[in-house]
Amino acid sequence: MPPKFTGVDFYNIDGLLNEEERAIRDTVRSWVDDNLIPIIGEAYVAGKFPRQLIPGMAELGLFGANLPEEYGCAGLNNVAYGLIMQELERGDSGVRSFASVQGALVMYPIYAFGSEEQKKEWLPQMASGKVIGCFGLTEPDYGSNPAGMITVAKETKDGWVLNGAKMWITNGSTAQAAIIWAKTGRIDDADSIRGFIVPTDTKGFSAKDQKGKLSLRASDTSELVLQDVHVPKSALLAKSGGLKSPLMCLTAARYGIAWGAVGAAMACYDEAVSYAKQRVMFGKPIGGFQLQQARLADMLTEITKAQLPAAAGTARRHAHRDHEGAAALSAAGPTEGRRQIDAAAGLARQAQ
Ligand SMILES: Cc1cc2nc3c(=O)[nH]c(=O)nc-3n(C[C@H](O)[C@H](O)[C@H](O)COP(=O)(O)OP(=O)(O)OC[C@H]3O[C@@H](n4cnc5c(N)ncnc54)[C@H](O)[C@@H]3O)c2cc1C
Repeated sequence: MPPKFTGVDFYNIDGLLNEEERAIRDTVRSWVDDNLIPIIGEAYVAGKFPRQLIPGMAELGLFGANLPEEYGCAGLNNVAYGLIMQELERGDSGVRSFASVQGALVMYPIYAFGSEEQKKEWLPQMASGKVIGCFGLTEPDYGSNPAGMITVAKETKDGWVLNGAKMWITNGSTAQAAIIWAKTGRIDDADSIRGFIVPTDTKGFSAKDQKGKLSLRASDTSELVLQDVHVPKSALLAKSGGLKSPLMCLTAARYGIAWGAVGAAMACYDEAVSYAKQRVMFGKPIGGFQLQQARLADMLTEITKAQLPAAAGTARRHAHRDHEGAAALSAAGPTEGRRQIDAAAGLARQAQ
């Protein structure tokens, strides 16, 4: 059955999608209509991520959907992955954010910088939603400038000890595993930044939700504190190195976020249109009045376009004749403009 929501093809790209991409989009679209939209208002007001959505999202293969099937992921192409983010964000930005973090900021770094053992251990569990992850890069004093981070990881004979704090961490209090970025060398050496997989039940690790956000309310955002957190050597993402590594993750996430923005625009447009069709004012839907205004605006645009060359010619003539020409034109302009607006309004009244 086709989804209830028919979509808004802002960029005229629907025709470029292949059959599989359209099918994936429509499946997620229907899931959003049936499962997400009915509950999201309450979650938004409560300021809490609706965890009951996790099994359904996992079943559809939405976590790390563009990573390979051999690790339990859907192995989709990047367009299909983007369409998933678009449809999720049509339902709610916080839910899209949840999926972006799980896929692009947690599963992707394990896939890109982890060992084969780490991939086999973590990725299938994350794809199935059994393990939720978070990504700890930002710190209380280092957001736009993560190179300045002061979280450190000191190597010991059997592993690493992490100390520091992370701020604004999506899924922080939901997560069973955190990707923590820390400096392994001197505090001014951004090249020594490396990633670690830290189970959130490790002694010394704590997460506290940051309350009262004005947007992305249905997404959990937390502060993480790491106080003498001991992890084994196998926690290091061995192929990570320098700030480039977390920035690669952010690039992967931003790709999905860009698709998400299209979904949010679709939802806003659809909401505005349905409001205009339903809201009755003076005995008829407000859309009727809006349409008249749109007609009026169109007419004014046409009039202004036609008027511009003539006005420019007049200005040139005036400017050539005397220096006060431009002032004379601007004094005459509004009067002439007013006359044209009145004329257009009259036409619009006739059209009603
Ligand atoms: C809802 C939410 C979820 C998040 N999730 C995560 C997450 O999962 N993991 C994670 O690691 N981080 C996360 N973040 C953190 C996010 O990445 C940071 O908020 C971001 O990097 C900006 O840092 P900041 O908030 O400290 O702002 P600041 O760096 O303090 O910037 C404040 C303002 O100053 C401007 N500014 C900063 N430096 C300069 C400059 N040099 N020149 C001119 N203007 C400047 C900025 O553009 C901004 O407008 C999240 C944030 C939010 C709000």
